[in-house]
Amino acid sequence: MTYYPDMSPYSYDETCRDMLNVGWLASNHGYTKGLVDDRVVEALKILGIAYENQMRGIHHCEFCDAGRPFYLAGPDGETKVLLGSAEIRAVGGDGICYAAPNLILHYIVEHQYCPPEEFCQAAVRTAGLKASEELSVVE
Ligand SMILES: [Zn+2]
Repeated sequence: MTYYPDMSPYSYDETCRDMLNVGWLASNHGYTKGLVDDRVVEALKILGIAYENQMRGIHHCEFCDAGRPFYLAGPDGETKVLLGSAEIRAVGGDGICYAAPNLILHYIVEHQYCPPEEFCQAAVRTAGLKASEELSVVE
């Protein structure tokens, strides 16, 4: 998978509006680790099921055994989204848009990836979950 530093300008699809990259991890680059609020994970699941941007090809997690697929199950128990096959978009209160691979869910849950605080807030907000001042990341 192509590596982009967190909060770098998004350029995967040039027709899109201005966005920032989050969660485009690669095994040859370090990433921030930490505990992420449950609401952020919940928000990303909601956004992951309602994904809008199918990616070209499938990206596998570089931190796990190659080629092993991960799925996100929808609330109806039937919808299944292949992680690494689409993007998650989140918009912050300041109007800034973020683009993350849906594999970010796997990175957070399995590899303790800790996305930037602004992205976490944007994900919770975009998913329609209750925002909170206390939504913080524990290092
Ligand atoms: Zn993995």
